[in-house]
Amino acid sequence: MKKKIGFGSSCVHGPEEYRTTRPHQLPIYATSSFVFESIEEGMEVFTGQRQGHLYSRFGNPTIDAVAEKIARLESHGMDIDAFGYLTSSGMSAIATLALGLLRPGDAILTQGNLYGGTAELFSKVLEPLNIGLVLARLGDKRAVARVLAEHPSVRMLYFETPANPTLECIDIAGLCELGRQAGCHVVADNTFATPYLQQPLKFGTDFVVHSTTKYLNGHGNSTAGAIIGKSQALMQEAIFPKLKLLGTNCNPWDAWLVNNGLKTLEVRMERHCRNARQVAEWLESRPEVERVNYPGLVSHPSHTLAKRQMRDFGGMLSFELKGGLEAGKQFMNHIKFCSLAPTMGDVDTLILHPASMSHLNVPREIRLDNGITDGLVRLSVGIESVEDIIGDLEQALRIEKS
Ligand SMILES: *Cc1c(COP(=O)(O)O)cnc(C)c1O
Repeated sequence: MKKKIGFGSSCVHGPEEYRTTRPHQLPIYATSSFVFESIEEGMEVFTGQRQGHLYSRFGNPTIDAVAEKIARLESHGMDIDAFGYLTSSGMSAIATLALGLLRPGDAILTQGNLYGGTAELFSKVLEPLNIGLVLARLGDKRAVARVLAEHPSVRMLYFETPANPTLECIDIAGLCELGRQAGCHVVADNTFATPYLQQPLKFGTDFVVHSTTKYLNGHGNSTAGAIIGKSQALMQEAIFPKLKLLGTNCNPWDAWLVNNGLKTLEVRMERHCRNARQVAEWLESRPEVERVNYPGLVSHPSHTLAKRQMRDFGGMLSFELKGGLEAGKQFMNHIKFCSLAPTMGDVDTLILHPASMSHLNVPREIRLDNGITDGLVRLSVGIESVEDIIGDLEQALRIEKS
């Protein structure tokens, strides 16, 4: 029998849950809160005696399922459990982790060629909170050991490998050993490699962060991030309160988009790697090109190290045009098939000229110091038919020369 409630009430209430059989795919739980069957149940969930969802800023079935999936990928084949949180962006993952682990007076040791947003977060947000920033060449173990000895305030060792824009790699196991001796939290930003190519936890890293906006989503239609940690205690007691109180949580819709992308991560990465290697080899054979930075090339300084700690060499590369800034601009303006876009890791090929785009406002000396020369072009090689990518680069090189 139909319940006798007013028209207005019928508009507001319901619908009843129609779920009978289990959905084959992850549903989007677009709900900000969860209801309790009784006061007792509510109290048990609030006090943590019973597992349950309360409010989506604290957790939500769609978000939690995807966070756990990424944690499983980062710890795949290892004898440990890893724990994960999804955040609203890669930046919020890094900020939440740093604020969770560090106190005023502590310092972060990292590299000069960090992702630009991370470098600014450390210098413009954390330094004013009295969380210090120390830079070193992380590839030079003796330099790192010296800096750690000189700066006992360093409590976090933070790195990216391969790093922008020269794809320089860092010995993860070696760095973790130094970090452990100094009692630091060791954190890897694994955005460039993804867990398919490289698992920093395996080499001793304590935490991994991601901008899932890039390869993990892979389709350029979502912004989110992830924090993965080995220590359940630190994740629950140090990181989670910050995530909850700063409100840096992901939302169910973006989490769902990330999950869609994750389904094809392995096949996409295989193709990204194959295409990138072919493009790198082709570029290396061109007279207009001074140098190609791709860890898969034997000419790359990190080739041996990359072979040791990565399954394959990834989809990112950069190359130097002989004609400098003018050549770079000309070349970029004649690109047709690839897209000029300031992101990476999408299924389509993306191209960036740092000197005139992402690093336009960075003083030239600082740019050069970090390997960003005037003629440097960065390519995020997509999964298209490789002949179309090479064809586009070739016609742009031809025009640039004429
Ligand atoms: C893009 C990126 C970030 C920041 O991620 P957002 O999702 O844009 O906030 C951090 N680290 C690396 C290496 C990145 O490429």
